[in-house]
Amino acid sequence: MMNKYDCIIIGGGPAGLSAALTLGRARRKIAIFENGTNRNRVTQESHGFLTRDGIKPQAFKNIAMKELESYPSISILDQTVIEINEDDSSDFFLVNTSNNESYLSEKILLATGIQEEFNLPQIRQYYGKSMFSCPYCDGWELRDKPLAIIAENEASISHMTKLVYNWSQDLIVFTNGLQLSDNVRNDFERKKIKVYTAVIKNLHGDDGNLFSIELETGENILRSGGFVVPSFYRPNKFAKQLNCQVGENGAIITDGAGRTTADGIYIAGETEKGGPSSLMIAAAEGFKAASSINMDITVERF
Ligand SMILES: Cc1cc2nc3c(=O)[nH]c(=O)nc-3n(C[C@H](O)[C@H](O)[C@H](O)COP(=O)(O)OP(=O)(O)OC[C@H]3O[C@@H](n4cnc5c(N)ncnc54)[C@H](O)[C@@H]3O)c2cc1C
Repeated sequence: MMNKYDCIIIGGGPAGLSAALTLGRARRKIAIFENGTNRNRVTQESHGFLTRDGIKPQAFKNIAMKELESYPSISILDQTVIEINEDDSSDFFLVNTSNNESYLSEKILLATGIQEEFNLPQIRQYYGKSMFSCPYCDGWELRDKPLAIIAENEASISHMTKLVYNWSQDLIVFTNGLQLSDNVRNDFERKKIKVYTAVIKNLHGDDGNLFSIELETGENILRSGGFVVPSFYRPNKFAKQLNCQVGENGAIITDGAGRTTADGIYIAGETEKGGPSSLMIAAAEGFKAASSINMDITVERF
C-alpha cells in the first residue's frame, strides 16, 4: 500500500522547510524530500537571516530539521524526486524517486531552488569562499578588500559594480572579452575603477582563496576576492511538466501566494522566479505557500 500525503514538498531549503513547519503545525500529513543539492552548500557562512547571522548552511538545515521532528505528521525523506505525474486512478499526484519508490499526494509544493552556471568553470573553486554573487550576503566580509567584478554582460557589470562599490572602492572590473560602451566606461573612470576587457585565461589562488586573475594578454592582476554574475537555471522541469504556466520573464505564474495555474501545484522560493533571492525571502515564501495549501485543503474538505 503506497503512502498517501496531504502534501509532498520537494526541496528542503528554507522555502520547503518553512512550509513543512507551517503544514506540520496545521496537522497536515506531509513528506519533505531533500537530496542535499542546495546551491549554498559551498559557502562557509550564511548572513542576514535575523537571529542566525553567520550560521553555516548545514547548521541552519539541522536546526530546521530538528524543529520538524516535534511534529509527528511530518516525514523527512533523504531521496531525489525524479518524476511527478497525475495519478490516473485517483485524484492524487504520483511522486517517483530515484530509488524506485512512489508516493501519492493530494498537493505538491515545488521548492527545489535554482543552480548557477559560470562561463568560467574555474570560478567554482572560489565560489562560496572568496567569490560570491550576492553582495548583501557576503559584501560585509569582503569590505575594503581589493576585489574583482567578473561579469560578461554590460547591464550586469554596471549593476554589480555600482552595488559592490558600497562595500569596497578598490574594484577592478573583468569583462572576459566584452567591450563596454562609453557611458559605462565613463562612469567607472569617474570612480577610478579600472576595467580589463581581455579574455580571462585562469584564476589563481589556494584553497578557495583568490590571489590573482590571469588574462590572455599575459597580465596577472592581484585580487583577493570578488563578485561574479552567474546565469541561473531550474535544475528540473517539474513545473513545466505539470503544466504550470510560465510568464515571459521566465517566472512561474502564481497568485502571489504560491498557487500556480495548475490545480494542486504550489511553488515557493527561488525556483518560482528562476532567479536568486535570500534565505529570509525563501522562508517567507514557503510560509505563504503553506498557508495557501492549508486553506485550500480546509475549504475543499469542510
Ligand atoms: C555561495 C552562496 C552564498 C549565499 N549566501 C547567502 C547568505 O549569506 N544569506 C542569504 O540569505 N542567502 C544566501 N544565499 C542564497 C540562499 O542560499 C538562497 O536564497 C536560498 O537557499 C533559497 O532557498 P530555496 O529554499 O528557494 O532553495 P534552496 O536552498 O536551494 O533549496 C532547494 C532544495 O531542494 C532540494 N532539491 C532540489 N531538487 C530536488 C529533488 N529533485 N529531490 C529532492 N530534493 C531536491 C535541494 O537539495 C535543496 O536543498 C547564498 C547562496 C550561495 C550560492
